[in-house]
Amino acid sequence: SENELSCIGCGAILQTETANKPGFLPAGTLKKYQEQAEVEQLYCQRCFRLRHYNEIAPVEIADQEFKNLLRSLRKQRALIVYVVDVFNFSGSLIPNLDSYIGSNRLLLVGNKTDLLPHSFKVNRVKNWLQQQAKRVGLKPLATKLVSAKKLVQVDQLLETIEQLRQHQDVYIIGTTNVGKSTLLNAILQARTTWQELITTSSFPGTTLDQIKIPLADGHNLIDTPGIVKRDQMAHFLLPKQLKYIAPQTEIHPRIFQLQAEQTLFIAGLARLDFIEGSAGSFLVYVENHLYIHRTKLENADDFYQRQLGELLNPPQDQQEFPPFDPQLIKTTEPSDILLAGLGWISVPQGVQVRVYLPVGLTAEVRPALV
Ligand code: GDP
Repeated sequence: SENELSCIGCGAILQTETANKPGFLPAGTLKKYQEQAEVEQLYCQRCFRLRHYNEIAPVEIADQEFKNLLRSLRKQRALIVYVVDVFNFSGSLIPNLDSYIGSNRLLLVGNKTDLLPHSFKVNRVKNWLQQQAKRVGLKPLATKLVSAKKLVQVDQLLETIEQLRQHQDVYIIGTTNVGKSTLLNAILQARTTWQELITTSSFPGTTLDQIKIPLADGHNLIDTPGIVKRDQMAHFLLPKQLKYIAPQTEIHPRIFQLQAEQTLFIAGLARLDFIEGSAGSFLVYVENHLYIHRTKLENADDFYQRQLGELLNPPQDQQEFPPFDPQLIKTTEPSDILLAGLGWISVPQGVQVRVYLPVGLTAEVRPALV
């Protein structure tokens, strides 16, 4: 409509409803500018932070817009940098990404390595990421592991980007929450020369929702918005509960010696029944403070009924939380059972377990990484 105002930085229609959607600015700010009749000069909050603090804030777009964005990638001649979360690969997956890459070169970046226990071997993590990429039809030229938050391997990543981009643009893509914005801010910090370019160029001609960081040779590093993945544990929790499942520091696995007919509850979010196999070690890799309860299988249903939302918390409000859906898993080698963004449980070989996640989520199995 004619009353719609646009951000003069990115062109997004301004809105005061949703903070992580394009064009957001706080209602109070909008009002202030309206009172001063200066609405012609408004920046959205994201562009404001970018201009004044050189800081890139995350933004998400709807699935259809995201598809359009991916389609437009196919027409580019660029290096595509695909950022995934090593703690949550399934939550990092972009459906059909292979068909959108076209003939462009691809660099796979596994972020948040600081969450992995020190006992993890970097090469095994890398191999596993490469296998996963291959499974979904991607052929990255290289795979890099970094921690954007702890600034680990960021300089090396930049070198690789320079080597691979062959004087072309660089597009950074990823689903929301993989740490793409944090990584871009780390890149801005790491490259003082780039930072100078940014402050002097004031981001001319940014297209909708994309942030361009000018590179020395006239090309750009382009940040793109992400999409939210819904087949993830986080999707079933209230925003204020997310902190209970999202690890902030290195995960220390909690070790349980289990025998058949015992059950583990990961708060009220997941459950594992050890059905059959010799006694052995089960290692739980989840947020370090999340409550884990061991009980006899025969008592498990009753315990769950009584304690869901109490001891087994989160979830807090059981009404909102979907019922569990069991999945039978048999292992032929030491394996990690991945819990859709919650973490994973390492189980011995030759066991049969039943894994419960909320309806709609699927547990995946990989060869143990340790
Ligand atoms: P985006 O949606 O992909 O842009 O993700 P953000 O950059 O907003 O990061 C999402 C969350 O992951 C935030 O809570 C970050 O602090 C966290 N995060 C980002 N990078 C890292 C990292 O390297 N290690 C850890 N532990 N957390 C990270």
